[in-house]
Amino acid sequence: MEKFSQKTVLILAGLMFLISQSFGLPVKVNDNENEELSIDEMLRRANENFDSNIASESNDQDVYLTEYDIALTKEQYEALHNTDPQKRTVALKDENYRWADKTVKYTIDSSKFTADIVKMIENGMAEISHFSCVKFRQAVASDGYQIKIFNGTGCWSYVGEVKPVQEMSFGPGCNDHGIMVHELLHALGIHHEQTRPDRDSFVTINFENMNEDRKVNFKLYDNTYVNTFGLPYDYRSIMHYGKTAFSNNGKDTITTKDSAYQDVIGNRKGMSFFDVRTLNAMYKCTTHCTIKDADCPNNGFVGKDCKCWCPLPTDDYPIEYCSADDKTKYGSLKFVPK
Ligand SMILES: [Zn+2]
Repeated sequence: MEKFSQKTVLILAGLMFLISQSFGLPVKVNDNENEELSIDEMLRRANENFDSNIASESNDQDVYLTEYDIALTKEQYEALHNTDPQKRTVALKDENYRWADKTVKYTIDSSKFTADIVKMIENGMAEISHFSCVKFRQAVASDGYQIKIFNGTGCWSYVGEVKPVQEMSFGPGCNDHGIMVHELLHALGIHHEQTRPDRDSFVTINFENMNEDRKVNFKLYDNTYVNTFGLPYDYRSIMHYGKTAFSNNGKDTITTKDSAYQDVIGNRKGMSFFDVRTLNAMYKCTTHCTIKDADCPNNGFVGKDCKCWCPLPTDDYPIEYCSADDKTKYGSLKFVPK
């Protein structure tokens, strides 16, 4: 009897599957459909319906996007599309575009977000603060420059501190820890890894696999405008797009020169070792320390607590204390979300 029931259940399940297929009904195969997407694939989907004319929350000015998620003012957008290469720049090396007191002031329009999403945004901020001296705090009336985080169309941010009240959008499709960290890093002044001046030594851009109007997304910023702080090109960066970004035919647009990294690019799990180092260098997190990066072993650097932090080759988390003593004394450097 039991055997018969099992068989019946199997046959029925099979029949239901066939029926659902022939009638085109959805068959749920994977609860975590987004899990496998690279950072650029997720941004492309979320930003599909973006419209420059209605993107600003207050509708007071147009917002333009480049590279999927970098917001530009009208002036920046026009400069980017200028045929004169000298005028074609939007990148910001100037320290004036860093946040004063290493502190980002922000408001979150919590009436338009669920509590879970507010928590996710705060966890993005917490990861950045965990690994650097950058702090985030809610803006008060007397604050000047600040970020207004709202539930708009798509996920996007300006690069650096550029406007008195600059918007950051987390719309539908942006509910992901990695996306939030990525946009927050833009706001702190970090560009995409694949637009670094030395990009062409580490990846090949296959322009033949994209439409003409997409090529602008792969323009290079030169050293006059971006600072790489002498740090190596980083395939693992959360600011590096995946292999098919801006493709018009599904073929790869980015090929890593070291083929071992072809499926590594596009990370959206969290900050890489060199993302952390870049941010620490950019915000001068260790000027109070007496030891220097050169004193640290194994490509380590001085962290905000004036201890040597070393790379940890694991997907789980990127950094550990270099010395066994510090590991025993201070434990793990892993970021644990709230
Ligand atoms: Zn981006």
